[in-house]
Amino acid sequence: MKTLVTGGAGFVGSHLVDRLANEGHEVICFDNFITGRKENIKNSKIKILQGDVNNKEDVRDLFKKHRFDNVFHYAALVGVKRTLETPLDVLGDVEGIKNILEAARKQDVKKVVFSSSSEVYGDPVEIPEKEDGHLNPKLPYAVVKLIGEKYLEAYHKKYGLNTTSLRFFNVYGPRQDSSDYGFVVGIFIKQALKNQPPTIYGDGTQTRDFVFIEDNINATLKTMTSRESNGQSINIGTGMPITIYNLAQKIIKLCGKNIEPVFVNNQREDVRHRFPEIKKMIDLLDYKPIFDLDRGLKKTIGWYKKEGK
Ligand code: UDP
Repeated sequence: MKTLVTGGAGFVGSHLVDRLANEGHEVICFDNFITGRKENIKNSKIKILQGDVNNKEDVRDLFKKHRFDNVFHYAALVGVKRTLETPLDVLGDVEGIKNILEAARKQDVKKVVFSSSSEVYGDPVEIPEKEDGHLNPKLPYAVVKLIGEKYLEAYHKKYGLNTTSLRFFNVYGPRQDSSDYGFVVGIFIKQALKNQPPTIYGDGTQTRDFVFIEDNINATLKTMTSRESNGQSINIGTGMPITIYNLAQKIIKLCGKNIEPVFVNNQREDVRHRFPEIKKMIDLLDYKPIFDLDRGLKKTIGWYKKEGK
């Protein structure tokens, strides 16, 4: 099996290429290395190619040199704040979606998986959030993800290309690069390990559904062989959201610290709640998360300690 992962040097992508290589795939990691990192790829069996998925020629060359069985299209402009600073930039990702779908269709790729996001729900109209329920995308980033989903669905209907979009809820774990652009788990862990109080934005009652990276990858791998998932969008979450205040307390405790979080004003527009229904994931992918938050956080904290972050 030859498998392409665009954005394969990013946080989620790099875990995916690792697992695919371990399971015997011939893996091509294609990345422009703007947010992806070469250090994330340690397995020498993984072939790293530098290129821009939003550039037609780069994708044409890539598909000329290789015949792929599976394509995971994960390359994207990441960081919600980054996409707000320069809202038009994220529209460039539409080109990547077009390039990948056309190349995959022409080459008769067996499966195309697209990394969508819980952001397509925006401020949820209903709780829990159901794949076939109301969508309320607010951010330019979310609108582009939704365009991707709709085009994957259209290519499945029109050309019979096997496609699935995965709506990732908040993924966390080793290698996640937290910064001003977000990713709260890493931010809180770094703060706690330095004995600094975790900075809660607002009152901390907002909720998120945190999914450990290994669960995210397990569910993703199931997508490759699930015929029922073709033409579908599927939530990848745990169905057990937590408030940001409780998350901060949990991280402080697991880091063995005796500190209290602080509440700070932050101007960023924040979604209040995220709460996925995960029935479709269980039914179509036959997968239920196996990591509870404590276990996933312990592994993540261990990594931050080891890396001296
Ligand atoms: N958050 C926080 N303190 C921080 C960073 C984030 O309280 O230092 C909150 C943020 O306001 C949001 C949640 O944590 O409600 C998740 O933020 P993240 O950037 O990880 O992801 P997203 O907002 O995209 O779900």
